[in-house]
Amino acid sequence: MNYILRNGSAYVNGAFTDADLLVKDGVIAAMGQDLSCEDAEVIDCQGKIVVPGLVDLHVHLREPGFEYKETVATGTAAAAAGGYTTILSMPNLNPVPDNVEALKVQLAAIEKDACIHVLPFASITVGQKGQALSDIDGLAGLCVGFSDDGKGVQSETMMLEAMELVKKNGSFISAHCEDESLLEGGSVHKGEFAALMNLRGISSASEYVPIVRDIALAEKTGVQYHICHISAKESIDAVRQGKRHGVNVTCEVTPHHIALCDMDIKSDDGKYKMNPPLRGREDREAIFEGLRDGTIDVIATDHAPHSAEEKARGLEKSAFGIVGSETAFAVSYTELVRSEIISLEKLIELMSVKPAAIIGRKAELALGAPADIAVFDLNAEFTVDPQTFVSKGKSTPFEGMKFYGRTELTLCGGNIVYRRK
Ligand SMILES: [Zn+2]
Repeated sequence: MNYILRNGSAYVNGAFTDADLLVKDGVIAAMGQDLSCEDAEVIDCQGKIVVPGLVDLHVHLREPGFEYKETVATGTAAAAAGGYTTILSMPNLNPVPDNVEALKVQLAAIEKDACIHVLPFASITVGQKGQALSDIDGLAGLCVGFSDDGKGVQSETMMLEAMELVKKNGSFISAHCEDESLLEGGSVHKGEFAALMNLRGISSASEYVPIVRDIALAEKTGVQYHICHISAKESIDAVRQGKRHGVNVTCEVTPHHIALCDMDIKSDDGKYKMNPPLRGREDREAIFEGLRDGTIDVIATDHAPHSAEEKARGLEKSAFGIVGSETAFAVSYTELVRSEIISLEKLIELMSVKPAAIIGRKAELALGAPADIAVFDLNAEFTVDPQTFVSKGKSTPFEGMKFYGRTELTLCGGNIVYRRK
């Protein structure tokens, strides 16, 4: 099927311009005013923005191994509903993709059920146990990069060896940075809220200590090094210093760390429990500064679905992780652009252009480019109702909150993968 996206405001070469887009045979075949095409369906985009499909560097699809939480089919449909056309899937699966055979199990599920592009990470260590390296040489050609997300690589020697091998293979590392010796068994940030509620806290040091370590290793090895879900102000400072020294380091922040801090936790509810936790007010300020000055490169969701039961045990006993695919754009747009912290153009960079660049791809509306496109209505305000989510996971701290920026349409490879009813 061919489409004309009519009268939208299109993001082209870093700026918004009024233009129609003709999507034909899976690519953007024409851009301009008053386009026509005999066999194309015309879709009215008046008053809406038309942007390159969003790219999420951090998604938990849960298949194979944990299909009761999410599947490739439901997770990619949820991402499409959020305007995403490319997502990177994390390897905390069963089997863990630490060897080619195991990775092929996930690749087969992706091939069969994914409605958008899914690029899987392989694990850095066998079983994500931190004891021995995965078959990095064998896996590098089949995966987008390497991550032990969910766990930090505790041993410095192991991380150094991993970086050397990953560098040799021309791949990259996406690191979940967490020093287990500094965790103290907490469920929320070690700060004001934890003190008030007499809860054990997760220290910022458990995040920034391994980040400082890894940036030094990345400098030594020259590997492309990306940091998952950065949350603490000290971590952001470390990345800023690293970039100044010319280290090949990038980092992501989640919409929930952008929108909330620990004192926003309203009740003893698992929907406020994620790792890293919601940090302090000053950390959130540091995130804004990091986004403004380019220290923080991208927004990624850390979409981490769990069953209702796993999230119903309160702050201390619920599983870590919340869903994010279907609210990421609206939350980020409302919190950052409507609050005039960054421009709309910058937001598209953070959610589409830059994450694509980190994985060596292009996200752009250009003649002949693949028709991976999202359309958002920035003026549409809506209340987050998890029961309407496509994802199997329903746990989100944004439940009941109002945001602007509704997904209207998502095209992947020229096919409609989401259309608001
Ligand atoms: Zn993680």
